Amino acid sequence: MLFLDPQSSKTQKLPQPLMTSEETPETFPFSMIAGPCSIESYELFSEVARAVKKQGATALRGGIFKMRTRADAFQGLGGEALPIVKQVKQEVDLPFVCEITDPRQIAVLDEVVDVFQVGARNMHNYELLKELGKTHKPILLKRGLAAYLDEFLAAAEYIFKAGNTRVILCERGIRTFERSTRNTLDLSAVPYLKQKSQLPVMVDPSHGTGIRSLVSPMAWAAAAAGADGIIVEVHPRPQEALSDGEQALTIEDFEALVPRLNRILEAMDRPGLSSFQANLPAAKRTVPAWTN
Ligand code: PEP
Ligand code: MN
Repeated sequence: MLFLDPQSSKTQKLPQPLMTSEETPETFPFSMIAGPCSIESYELFSEVARAVKKQGATALRGGIFKMRTRADAFQGLGGEALPIVKQVKQEVDLPFVCEITDPRQIAVLDEVVDVFQVGARNMHNYELLKELGKTHKPILLKRGLAAYLDEFLAAAEYIFKAGNTRVILCERGIRTFERSTRNTLDLSAVPYLKQKSQLPVMVDPSHGTGIRSLVSPMAWAAAAAGADGIIVEVHPRPQEALSDGEQALTIEDFEALVPRLNRILEAMDRPGLSSFQANLPAAKRTVPAWTN
């Protein structure tokens, strides 16, 4: 058993090696993480949170410390976002997934963040991975911009080795010769990673395509490929977004995404969208519980 529940009294065993092709991948409850790219204001975050909760989102996303290509682009609200997150989490009662860009942010974010996200640009930041490995929260680890899948799994091992086995892998597109889309979403990564590890594998079709009209089709395809969840960006007025507006689903787009997603999950013989929290009682299973 590779992934013991942290509450279990049994000693956690590090997988050596992580990749064991004979093992049958676990089935995880499907998760849908949704929210704006960046938290811009209380009003925006609350509006999006309420809308996505209504459609069955299982967790919220929202950037606080952003990794922007340009130094003069919006860098996130930083610490100012914390009271906003606290308030909105209370309103919708959903866990919060947030990118962490520096180990010094652990103390600041710990209060409001339920799942730490490691962004694509930091997949190779092994010191950050080691520090997150000392925490007890689930880590959503994104694939690096040009990382081989085996390098991606090797990065996950840094978190394991430091003591945290609650790792969720996330395919978010890679750089290829193709310039028509922001990235090339590698959906073959989903069954590959599931066959080579026992970790849950999620897909980010927002960064994976960079184009709003491609996000829902790739979210459906991710579910059909066996992903354990999706993480998508939603903004009620994408043209006003301070980051990643071109790839944000509107609330109406998101409402249209969900029913077909549920039908695909049904066709895949897996339970549809179920809440992270509702799944906590099942923590006896040897899978990482999603929240503390
Ligand atoms: C994000 O999720 O907002 C983000 C920056 O993602 P990535 O690290 O995949 O580019
Ligand atoms: Mn983004």
